[in-house]
Amino acid sequence: MDNSHSSVETVVKHQAPVLFFVLFFMIQATVFTVFTVPFSWELVLVAVVSYFVRMFGITAAYHRYFSHSSFKTSRVFQFVLAWIGSMSMQKGVLWWAAHHRNHHKYSDTEKDIHSPSRKGFWYSHMFWFLRDEYNDYETKLIPDFYKYPELRWIDRNHWIPPLTFAIGLYLAGGWGWLVYGYAVATFFLGHATWTINSLSHVYGSTRFESRDTSKNNLFLALLTMGEGWHNNHHYYCSSANQGFYWYEVDLSYYILKALSWVGIVWDLKKPPVKVLDEGLRRDAEKKAALSAAKNLSKPRKIKTAPSRTVVTSS
Ligand SMILES: [Zn+2]
Ligand SMILES: [Zn+2]
Repeated sequence: MDNSHSSVETVVKHQAPVLFFVLFFMIQATVFTVFTVPFSWELVLVAVVSYFVRMFGITAAYHRYFSHSSFKTSRVFQFVLAWIGSMSMQKGVLWWAAHHRNHHKYSDTEKDIHSPSRKGFWYSHMFWFLRDEYNDYETKLIPDFYKYPELRWIDRNHWIPPLTFAIGLYLAGGWGWLVYGYAVATFFLGHATWTINSLSHVYGSTRFESRDTSKNNLFLALLTMGEGWHNNHHYYCSSANQGFYWYEVDLSYYILKALSWVGIVWDLKKPPVKVLDEGLRRDAEKKAALSAAKNLSKPRKIKTAPSRTVVTSS
């Protein structure tokens, strides 16, 4: 963590193209346009819907489908998923998935592109993708999707879906919808997504021995529609559900499950029973160790002999 400052400095001074860096912060600053619009609950609703639709595009599409192939769908819906994911303005689908596959391959080693324990919190959160050397990606990392010309097209033109979305919002509801539905929602959507690279490798509990710093975190799971079960995910990454048990909320998976009932997606991969049993066993061991430690730390009652009352006769 100590080297985060120097890592950021290196990026800013030597690696990131200055124009892109300035542009990134100018786009981030558009969140302040919120002060130009009178508050209303209708606008908050617009922001919330815009946030969750596009979060689904990141978690279910960019992550679970394109990075991990955790379920199957038609070629048409595959393109729809790529479009919804691209609307979140987090670069192209093939770029995203290829870099993410590298993250799993080298998780928390020197080669990990966004490890908070190696390169610092802010670097893992958002400075890594400003680096010049990560503008491109190795196509050999994603041959299964690179073969589709329409995906290569949307990957190259990843600015089209967010731009059309922004224009659509403006046409539907004017400046207020654009500000809340785009500027505000995109700001929170970006930072919430990036917490999975930063906070999810720092705060939370560790169930599985995943040989990295990934954690399970309910708060982040709620914020990111299930991505917060990151330790589960790093241990068994090809599963369509990242919340492995009924009590681990995973909104993206519930939507995928519903889509499977109407035949839009299918073959949703699940973690094997062996993995689920191992998780339950480790939870039980942890619980037992915790209660044993609690009992040890409790102050013990020391039995003392009842005091005798001495009666003296005067
Ligand atoms: Zn991770
Ligand atoms: Zn992943």
